[in-house]
Order: sequence, then C-alpha cells, then structure tokens
Amino acid sequence: MKATCSMCQKEFEITVSDPQYLKLKRGDTKIYTCKKCNDQLKNEAQQTTGFNPDIVDPDKYDKFVP
Ligand SMILES: [Zn+2]
Repeated sequence: MKATCSMCQKEFEITVSDPQYLKLKRGDTKIYTCKKCNDQLKNEAQQTTGFNPDIVDPDKYDKFVP
C-alpha cells in the first residue's frame, strides 16, 4: 500500500510490518508519518522533555502521529 508522509510529502510503500499499516487500511487515520520523520519527532521530543520513548515503547514509532 502506498502512503504519503504528512511531513516530508514523500511517497512510501508500506507493508503489514509497518505499525501504521493497519490503521491506514482500516481508515482510522489518513495521516502517515515515515520512519525518518518519526525519528526526528522523537528526537525533538527527547530534547525538550529528556524522555526517551524507545525505553517504554520500542516498536510503536507512530505514537507521535496525531
Ligand atoms: Zn517523512
């Protein structure tokens, strides 16, 4: 399935292994954020809060998607 990243506007081919795949397929969300942009968001959140989400939730990189 193709999805366009809401941040960098690039198109990605995502598979069922992507944590956001099912949400997009079910129509729960139309917003896809690619791994790279998510990492960037995570890093920014880490810098502002000092909290590392990887420790709590290593596989759910979509947690910052609105
Ligand atoms: Zn992106």
